[in-house]
Amino acid sequence: MNEDVLALEDVSKTYNAGKPNEVQVLRGASLVMKRGEVVALVAPSGAGKSTLLHIAGLLDTPDQGSVVIDGRDMTRLGDHARTAARRGQVGFVYQFHHLLPEFSALENVVLPQLANAVSPSAAEARARDLLGRVGVAERADHRPAALSGGEQQRVAFCRALANAPSLLLADEPTGNLDPATSDQVFAALMGLVRDTGLSALIATHNMELARRMDRIVRLDEGQITAQ
Ligand code: ADP
Repeated sequence: MNEDVLALEDVSKTYNAGKPNEVQVLRGASLVMKRGEVVALVAPSGAGKSTLLHIAGLLDTPDQGSVVIDGRDMTRLGDHARTAARRGQVGFVYQFHHLLPEFSALENVVLPQLANAVSPSAAEARARDLLGRVGVAERADHRPAALSGGEQQRVAFCRALANAPSLLLADEPTGNLDPATSDQVFAALMGLVRDTGLSALIATHNMELARRMDRIVRLDEGQITAQ
């Protein structure tokens, strides 16, 4: 398989183009991520981190430039193929967990797999394995509201990895947690990423966490620059 998991080439994105409130967010941003690499994306609020993650994760399309995942150019895929690629190849984690409140932790990790045609028994086995790896096996039958903030995020990581994506995109994944919890939850995330050989692009304001990743890139004036 191709060694590069993600290649963003010369990606540009402007909101409200041609209008008085036009915002040129990305101006030729390029980034290549190798398999297994964990990259910190650091930039101030409003610099375009979420926009970049959404484009890399096929939730949004660039005005110009290309998005290649696992060696396949995704830039001009139709909606159907784009959704299928996103579901199979990309996992997302946000600052807020976005778990389904009426389902247990286990079910939250099982459901995306059923949507991807995995058998119920295989989906449950994988969900239990993932939950165990991040230390929440005993909480599997609890609904999100009965879990702590740190536990909720751990479950959200498992859900993001449920369909064994090659790329994890995370937008301030520990940003809602107190510093001690953030530290532990980040360690759990890194353990999971290393265990599964996943590549991860993790937006953060926290330089201490950023320094624990393989490398740091910045988003500056709409372009990616190395640290
Ligand atoms: P960050 O994640 O670094 O905080 P964002 O990617 O969310 O940055 O936003 C970058 C800029 O683009 C901001 O100025 C924001 O207001 C603007 N923006 C984001 N999404 C939209 C949108 N859908 N329509 C118009 N402007 C947007």
